[in-house]
Amino acid sequence: MILDRAEIIGLLTTTDESEIRVLRTRAETTCLKVFGSDVHLRGIIEFSNYCRQDCLYCGLRRSNIGQPRYRMGLSEIVDAAEKAASLGFKTIVLQSGEDLYYSVSDIARLIETIKSRLDVAVTLSLGQRDKAAYRSWAAAGADRYLLRHETSNPVLYAYLHPGHSLDERIDHLHMLREAGFQIGAGNMVGLPGQTVDDIAGDLLLMKQLEVDMAGIGPFVPNPCTPLANSNGGTLDLVLREMAILRVLMPDVMIPATTALDTLDLHGRELALRWGANVMMPNVTPTKYRRMYTLYPGKTSVDEDPKQSADCMRLRVRSCGRSIATGYGHSPRYLRNKQLPGAQTWEAKQ
Ligand code: SAH
Ligand code: SF4
Repeated sequence: MILDRAEIIGLLTTTDESEIRVLRTRAETTCLKVFGSDVHLRGIIEFSNYCRQDCLYCGLRRSNIGQPRYRMGLSEIVDAAEKAASLGFKTIVLQSGEDLYYSVSDIARLIETIKSRLDVAVTLSLGQRDKAAYRSWAAAGADRYLLRHETSNPVLYAYLHPGHSLDERIDHLHMLREAGFQIGAGNMVGLPGQTVDDIAGDLLLMKQLEVDMAGIGPFVPNPCTPLANSNGGTLDLVLREMAILRVLMPDVMIPATTALDTLDLHGRELALRWGANVMMPNVTPTKYRRMYTLYPGKTSVDEDPKQSADCMRLRVRSCGRSIATGYGHSPRYLRNKQLPGAQTWEAKQ
C-alpha cells in the first residue's frame, strides 16, 4: 500500500481509537497473509562490547570509560554458535561494538567455520567497516547485515554520531547490498529533538531503500551517556511505526525488538500483534550478558541460552503464533535471486 508523508504523520499522531485499531488489525492481517502464523527466531551472540564509536545514546560508546569490557575468543564464539544451532536456531546473529581487534580475515574465518559446521544462516551486526570487508564477509558466506540508519534526520544524525553523517550511513547500506547481503536498517523512536515528521522520514527511507529487515525500537536513555536525562521513546509510537511499516512493506522482516521489553513486560508479544514476525533470543554466554549494556533495563541477563530459547518459544506460542523452521530469508531477496539477470551480487559473479 502507498501512504504519503501526510498520511503517515496522520497515523502516527491520531488520537482516534478506531483509526488506531484499524491500523493494528491491518498490520497483523498483512503479516499473517504474507508469512502465515510463523515467527522466525534468530539466536544473537553479543561477542564483544569494545567500540571505537562514540554514539551519544549508547552505553558501549568509547567515552564510557566506566564500562567493563569483554571480548569472546573466536573458538568461544563458534562454541556459542554450535550451542545456538543445537537449540534449533536457523539463524545466528553475530553482534558487537565496532571492534577492530577482530581483523577482516578473523571474521571471515569465523563465518566460514560456522557455515561449514552448522546448517544456519549468518547475520552480521558489527557496525561500519569498509567495502572490502563487506565483500570478504559476504564471500565467506554471511547472509545478512544489520546496520540501522538510526534516524533519517541528517542534523540529528550528525549530532548523535560525532564525525559521521547520514549520507555516509546510507552509502554503507548501499555497499552492503552490493556486496550481496540482505540488508537491515531501522531507527530508534523518542530520540531527543526527534519529531513525528522525522519518523515518517524513517519509514519513507526504509521503503525507498527496499530494506529486507527493519529494526524499530524505543530509544532508552542510558545513565552513563550524555543523553542520560532525555525522555526516551513510548511503546505506543514504536508499535504504530512498526504497523505502518508492515502496511507500507508487506514482506519486510520486522523483529520484535528487545528494547521493547524495557517498556512493557510483554513488549515483544505486543510487537507480534502490531506487524512483527521475527524474535531474537539472546544466546550470549550468561557471564557476558550484563556487560553488553547498550541501554539500561535489559532483560534475561541471568538466563542461559537454553532458558532464553525456551522462554522465547513460550512467548511466541502464547500469542497463538508458531515457530518457523526455515532460515527466514527475506522474500524480497529470494524473489530477486530467482530473477534471471537480477542485480544481485551472486548474479554479477
Ligand atoms: N555496533 C553495532 C551493533 C551494536 S549496537 C551498530 O551500532 O550497528 C545495535 C543497536 O543498538 C544500534 O543500532 C542502536 O539502534 C541500538 N541502541 C544503542 N543504544 C541504544 C539505546 N540507548 N536505546 C535503544 N537502542 C539503542
Ligand atoms: Fe558502538 Fe554500535 Fe553503540 Fe554506536 S551503537 S557506540 S557503534 S555499539
